[in-house]
Amino acid sequence: MNSEKMPKLGFGLISRSGKASDCIACGQCEAACPQHLPVIELMKEAAEILGR
Ligand code: SF4
Repeated sequence: MNSEKMPKLGFGLISRSGKASDCIACGQCEAACPQHLPVIELMKEAAEILGR
């Protein structure tokens, strides 16, 4: 993921919900996503970049 876009995306995710590191990799969102986004991997990357 382009780290230059992370602050904007990260802020939206953080302000509406918990931390990226709170993801328990249950896969429910990936199963429901019509764009087939790799949410679990994106949450791992976001947690590394944002440090939480
Ligand atoms: S896999 Fe998706 S639905 Fe499950 S905890 Fe992580 S972000 Fe939430």
